[in-house]
Amino acid sequence: LRTMAKSKFEYVRNFEVDDTCLRNCWIVVRLDGRNFHKFAEQHSFTKPNDDRALNLMTRCAQAVMEELEDIVIAYGQSDEYSFVFQKKSNWFKRRASKFMTHVASQFASSYVFYWKDYFQDQTLLYPPGFDGRVILYPSNQNLRDYLSWRQADCHINNLFNTVFWNLVQKGGLTTSQAEEKLRGTLSGDKNEILFSEFNINYNNEPLIHRKGTALVWKKIDEITTKTIKLPNEDKEKEIVVTRTRKKVTPLHCDLIGEEFWEEHCEILED
Ligand code: ATP
Ligand code: ATP
Ligand code: MG
Ligand code: MG
Ligand code: MG
Ligand code: MG
Ligand code: MG
Repeated sequence: LRTMAKSKFEYVRNFEVDDTCLRNCWIVVRLDGRNFHKFAEQHSFTKPNDDRALNLMTRCAQAVMEELEDIVIAYGQSDEYSFVFQKKSNWFKRRASKFMTHVASQFASSYVFYWKDYFQDQTLLYPPGFDGRVILYPSNQNLRDYLSWRQADCHINNLFNTVFWNLVQKGGLTTSQAEEKLRGTLSGDKNEILFSEFNINYNNEPLIHRKGTALVWKKIDEITTKTIKLPNEDKEKEIVVTRTRKKVTPLHCDLIGEEFWEEHCEILED
């Protein structure tokens, strides 16, 4: 490879600032869809949860995990996804801008690329955008609390949205009447409205809506047959080969309690 020729203009590189992420910290990149309230309306997302949109988000996050290095877990809900890079990662010398921009651009181009797989004949009306931020967490507890925070947000919003849209779609209330009715209510009140007015037990709502989606690496044994030719034999021989491969797997489970972290203890290991 040719090295870049030096010129008198070279000094401008010194205006670039160092944005190396502190060593030994978990690096989290969170993306969020730009103005998705409008995007959802213009693309007729079903209320309160459009599964096509959720599954497309997860497909994009899977592409990000497979294409980029060192992501150990991702978590998504609504129009956002968080990606956790292992704390020892040295990808792009830990430059924050590289992490953020590679995640955001890979995700956004995937959203357009895979759109038709989830929305079929529905036209994508304009190119969507995503903002990104980088957050460093120095301890495992901080990282777990971060993911708990996002999952609690998912729960709070989904409970509200579920009651709200039932009041509107089945209860015949206007959106402002529903808003008024829910003002100041606690989660117990919302559960009660769902149960008494719509015969819905919130705990039976789909896990993907209540818990969001975690993407983790799962080891799978891939069994293939290989045809080989032994040096001292004329005939070809079929042998069975087992390879362990890592595959990105979606889970819709609780991340707040201990159970998930005991079952997936490798995530927090060095
Ligand atoms: P900003 O640019 O500040 O993020 P925003 O309009 O994207 O603005 P958010 O707080 O990110 O605001 O909220 C995202 C909105 O997108 C939700 O409130 C909801 O209206 C819509 N939305 C996202 N995903 C879905 C989905 N799967 N089903 C239905 N609506 C969705
Ligand atoms: P990195 O991920 O580090 O940026 P890179 O392969 O993109 O790696 P660059 O230094 O950015 O490396 O160089 C971009 C390369 O892409 C060029 O060297 C060239 O091979 C190719 N390329 C980009 N645009 C064009 C173009 N318009 N016509 C032909 N080749 C192009
Ligand atoms: Mg270039
Ligand atoms: Mg926002
Ligand atoms: Mg948004
Ligand atoms: Mg959002
Ligand atoms: Mg390049």
